[in-house]
Amino acid sequence: MIIVMKIGTPEAEIDRVTEELHSHWNLTPEKIVGRYKVVIGLVGDTAELIPEQLQEMSPWIEQVLRVEQPFKRASREFRHGEASDVIVNTPLGVVHFGEHHPLVVVAGPCSVENEEMIVETARRVKAAGAKFLRGGAYKPRTSPYAFQGHGESALGLLAAAREATGLGIITEVMDTADLDKIAEVADVIQVGARNMQNFSLLKKVGAQEKPVLLKRGMSATIEEWLMAAEYILAAGNPHVILCERGIRTFDRQYARNTLDLSVVPVLRSLTHLPIMIDPSHGTGKAEYVPSMAMASIAAGADSLMIEVHPNPSRALSDGPQSLTPERFDRLMREELPPIIKVMGRSGELAPVPA
Ligand code: PEP
Ligand code: MN
Repeated sequence: MIIVMKIGTPEAEIDRVTEELHSHWNLTPEKIVGRYKVVIGLVGDTAELIPEQLQEMSPWIEQVLRVEQPFKRASREFRHGEASDVIVNTPLGVVHFGEHHPLVVVAGPCSVENEEMIVETARRVKAAGAKFLRGGAYKPRTSPYAFQGHGESALGLLAAAREATGLGIITEVMDTADLDKIAEVADVIQVGARNMQNFSLLKKVGAQEKPVLLKRGMSATIEEWLMAAEYILAAGNPHVILCERGIRTFDRQYARNTLDLSVVPVLRSLTHLPIMIDPSHGTGKAEYVPSMAMASIAAGADSLMIEVHPNPSRALSDGPQSLTPERFDRLMREELPPIIKVMGRSGELAPVPA
């Protein structure tokens, strides 16, 4: 349930209503400050509450509404229709992920392989206009015999790349035991597709402060995905970005996954959270990545994640879907800007000064 306060409600009145909800109604209200209005969110046992009774608490209350979706905090209704931003402080400056902000591009290799390659890739993707470097230290691999990532030592290499370039770092956590050391290096913590419903992991990333990138499980429905986001929000972390990375359908012959671009408008109507698309895992083939990246922006995505490797044929993981730095540069300089312009996302892919 949400209580929408009228524009211009005095701060003291919001505090008084919040206090009354607590003391008289025994609720745990959450104050949500939107662009235009303040909304007080109520999650929990609200079934017995009568909206009209709550409405009588103050003449400053505009409306009392029930949130119909099972995902409460993640729902767009919970913020009375307003989008939320995820704001990340990187050494290069503050980056906003969200509907009303420029497109944010995240790029880098699937796995962190060695210092030279990660620092070199970071430099190249930064020069092309990426704001974040991605790279796995802990890799979820289908085969136990495949490269598993360099683990903790790779975190040190990501820190070196951050230091050298100022790019924000996005890297995956697979095990709750690694969370603290990952959070020391990462600006955004990734929960991968295979862990989307690892509820203990979701609770743990929800109980810390770093923003979380939540990838869609490969067979997850949109509702299951938003309920997974709800776990993080319910644990107290409001900084969640959703990332579509392709789902399993009946045909895997030519593309690794089916990139579900229809989630963009669907999520936009269901949730206030920022939306990222990963066309690299979505297609599994480098040659298809540029068109799907362009299509993602046209569909209205807020952010892109693209795998880039200095020498894809020698990559330790996901080489076939990785762009070379040259191909990534062309995508960023020539192919994406016209779409960004048409979509009115303020076209800020300009390279940041070295
Ligand atoms: C990745 O980002 O490298 C990754 C493993 O992605 P996903 O969880 O989407 O498969
Ligand atoms: Mn990968």
